[in-house]
Amino acid sequence: MELMKDPEVLNPDECRGVCIFAEQRRGALSSAAMEMAGAGRRLADALGEDLHAALLGHGVGDLAEELRHYGIDKIHVVDDPVLADFLDEPYSAALCRVVRDVKPSILLGAATNIGRSLLPNVAVRLGAGLTAGCTGLAIDDATRSLVATRPAFGGTIFADVVMENRRPQIATVRRRVMAPAERRDAPSGEIVRHDLPPCAASARAKFLESVDELAGAVDLTAADVIVSGGRGIGGPEAFEMIRELADALGGGVGASRAAVDAGWIAYSHQVGQTGKQVRPKVYVACGISGAIQHLVGMRASDTIIAINRDPEAPIFRVATYGLVGDVHKIVPALAKRFREGG
Ligand code: FAD
Repeated sequence: MELMKDPEVLNPDECRGVCIFAEQRRGALSSAAMEMAGAGRRLADALGEDLHAALLGHGVGDLAEELRHYGIDKIHVVDDPVLADFLDEPYSAALCRVVRDVKPSILLGAATNIGRSLLPNVAVRLGAGLTAGCTGLAIDDATRSLVATRPAFGGTIFADVVMENRRPQIATVRRRVMAPAERRDAPSGEIVRHDLPPCAASARAKFLESVDELAGAVDLTAADVIVSGGRGIGGPEAFEMIRELADALGGGVGASRAAVDAGWIAYSHQVGQTGKQVRPKVYVACGISGAIQHLVGMRASDTIIAINRDPEAPIFRVATYGLVGDVHKIVPALAKRFREGG
């Protein structure tokens, strides 16, 4: 690929500050943007440098104003019809434009579908390193480098990754791991407008339409409560009782890979290593054994309730509360109690 042969490498000596990608979709800021603002502010303060945000889209003036309430020093806006919907090429060209103008030493984006596609593209264009799916970020006092922590080998170890030579140091960060920036009443920070680079308009891909897989479905990565079903619930129809309990608790429905592979529920519900990484306040695992690949996706939940008829099931080792018994009896009984406000 031409871009990989000739990346536009920044001079590390000229790079200062932290820049976040402030994600928006359909004219609304993602809560991921606030999480990045919180994480970015802490890193910028540790370095004693500025926090920048890159906001890309079309007609996003109001969102830029809103971002001024989150303690960001400079909000860099690229506003163009070409950026109305996310496409890799124009978005990465626009973000590279901001990065080349700002020359941040660190670039952060949330590990959302958009972030996981955009940030690696930018890293290639800039010949910079990227640490994906981070769960911790810190500054090394001695070198002032970013120390990006991420799980490896299915979450059995945590690796600290340092990108010594190239700038910016790029990281995608898992959802709901970083404390979000608090909204302040008084706006602050300067809005800086940048032009879309001409090459961005000639994107090879075109946006046709966006189809929501599950209209009205809860975004699991942002849900406070998740009720998940595994192979132990017995079949697709049993997801009805899982959904009833989730509804009674105001939460979303998750699933193990075994349930997804069996075709009982769509992949978008899968929690785990090859599904979604979630961190709700309450995670209810119903008929799920607790394989390591499932645990890496949910064990950061604040409270875990496991329902399993096997008292030796590994899920009980991570559970805050364990209920040993048949899901078909326990789940409907819990849903009834919660619906009745019990
Ligand atoms: P099982 O392991 O079959 O467990 C079913 C459980 O239900 C058992 O503990 C049983 O005691 C209990 N049970 C049965 N009947 C009842 C009942 N009536 N009442 C109460 N309890 C009952 N898995 C994921 O979930 N997410 C991933 O992202 C993922 N990624 C993977 C990636 C790789 C590379 C690999 C190799 C595997 C991955 N897996 C993933 C699969 C994982 O290893 C397990 O196979 C899977 O999580 C098992 O799903 P389960 O717990 O629903 O099924």
